[in-house]
Amino acid sequence: MAIILDGKSLAKKIRQQLKSEVNQFVEKGLRNPSLAVILVGNDPASEVYVKNKRKACEEVGINSLYIHLSEDTPEEELLRIIDKLNKDEDVDGILVQLPLPKHIDTQKVITSISPEKDVDGFHPENVGKLSTGMKDGIIPCTPLGIWILLKEYGIETFKKDVVIVGASNIVGKPMGLLFLRNEEATVTICHKNTKDLRKYTEEADILVVAVGKPNLITADMVKRDVVVVDVGINRLEDGRLVGDTDFENIKEKAFAITPVPGGVGPMTVASLLINTVSVYRQKFGYPKHPLTDV
Ligand code: NAD
Repeated sequence: MAIILDGKSLAKKIRQQLKSEVNQFVEKGLRNPSLAVILVGNDPASEVYVKNKRKACEEVGINSLYIHLSEDTPEEELLRIIDKLNKDEDVDGILVQLPLPKHIDTQKVITSISPEKDVDGFHPENVGKLSTGMKDGIIPCTPLGIWILLKEYGIETFKKDVVIVGASNIVGKPMGLLFLRNEEATVTICHKNTKDLRKYTEEADILVVAVGKPNLITADMVKRDVVVVDVGINRLEDGRLVGDTDFENIKEKAFAITPVPGGVGPMTVASLLINTVSVYRQKFGYPKHPLTDV
């Protein structure tokens, strides 16, 4: 039976740690860290994500400034708000919840956020820093959370064959770059046009799956003692929340696996807090947060 990589408990521990760190800064006379969260429209899933992120901020003493805009907000209006937040000395991080309505150019919006405040790590400057190995950028929250979780459990990444299923800009690609950063592991990234997915998953020492399809990866597609990181979040018709992998059967074969819920999701939110506190620390002349030092 596999080790269950318990992201929920680790995220809680990280929140407690961040809370005491923030307290120490505030006791020294500094203001609290702050994160601006922008939601455009009323997508129910996005509303839940934003609520969870704001609740987590509150718990650790990060002020969250919530800007909820209507679905039909013009792109220029959103860009104007971001510009104002970029210039606001009291705002450390800016997060625009994705997806954005169709009439708004997502890449343009991401690029308009000041790279120093881009706590999601999606700005091309931060993506470039991650891909060139520069360590002063911001790492996207899901890959950072996964990395911290693997390290917490002592999962060896050096010289491993890592297979990532899903090549999105927010998970798959930055996850691959993180494993490659110190030429740590050998990385294969699969996607919807991969000819023979099984050929790759069967070889993986560490398998990260971020697609959004329940049961995409079954136990016969992985080797014994694999480490499986399931990023997927899927709501089944009966209301259950599941990942992209057949957790029940794979856990009998794997060395370690993340559950859904309670695995990668809470670590993603914890990483958002880490990135925000890290930006705040640097603003006041302290080194970046040690947990971002990967
Ligand atoms: P996305 O839709 O942007 O990308 C999906 C990727 O999967 C694409 O690269 C696509 O080519 C690939 N794909 C599609 N079908 C495939 C197939 N049959 N075989 C192999 N690859 C296939 O998705 P995303 O934003 O990266 O999110 C992926 C999943 O992860 C979703 O379920 C999302 O809800 C979840 N997610 C979870 C967290 C978290 O914190 N747990 C964070 C981000 C995303």
